Amino acid sequence: MTRDELAAHLDYMRELGVQGVSRAAEWRARVEAPRLAEGLPPGETDDMPSDDALAAMPADATPPPAVALAPAEALAALRQAIGPDCTRCKLHTLGRRQVVFGVGNPQARLMFVGEAPGEDEDKQGEPFVGRAGQLLTKIIEAIGMTREQVYIANVIKCRPPGNRNPEPDEVGTCEPFLFEQLGIIQPRIVVALGKFAAQSLLRTTEPITKLRGRVFEWRGASLIPTFHPAYLLRNPPAKREVWEDMKKVRELLQA
Ligand code: SF4
Repeated sequence: MTRDELAAHLDYMRELGVQGVSRAAEWRARVEAPRLAEGLPPGETDDMPSDDALAAMPADATPPPAVALAPAEALAALRQAIGPDCTRCKLHTLGRRQVVFGVGNPQARLMFVGEAPGEDEDKQGEPFVGRAGQLLTKIIEAIGMTREQVYIANVIKCRPPGNRNPEPDEVGTCEPFLFEQLGIIQPRIVVALGKFAAQSLLRTTEPITKLRGRVFEWRGASLIPTFHPAYLLRNPPAKREVWEDMKKVRELLQA
């Protein structure tokens, strides 16, 4: 990037209301908002000026000190950038009612990630609000926390038709938004709910029965796979194993 290009880039950022530059996830979310609004995936910000480039800038192009967005603001900016009527993947043509962004504490230490919105979630615009969601709320309360203290999201944000599994192109398009949310919230622990979320996040085909009971280091957090609450509704005895996983979560939170 030339000096002129760098100055133009910074002018562009200032027009967007970005105060200064930072490598923080919150800043990246704000910077990437226009990219997302234009239908581009978040990805790496290769055009972000390097530290050397910043040091070489002329004095009159020096930006004011970086002002990092608070996580709540950064999440709101990301939500706005995705938009209420996202059309980036084919799910927008397959009957979804709305984008289900995610809900909870923007600074949560514990985050739950499921597969995709179901019918109730699609209607209400919030993840895990149906019967499985009510069970998830009980699971959260079982370790002495409330739903408001954690953050809940899905690998993809629109309901697949007939609750089928998300397809690779849908995951590939939508998953970067989840990674942006993770980068903003920076949870200490991520619980992957069910086979699909666990396999998708860990890029593995190992069965959930082999993944659960283990702790993975993943994107700066400890990732704990466990059974999906919908599976527990069909197989109540599996609650015992989920309780073991949640005790591990509690232990790690207290460490
Ligand atoms: S699933 Fe994600 S990428 Fe696809 S339309 Fe919904 S929000 Fe957009």
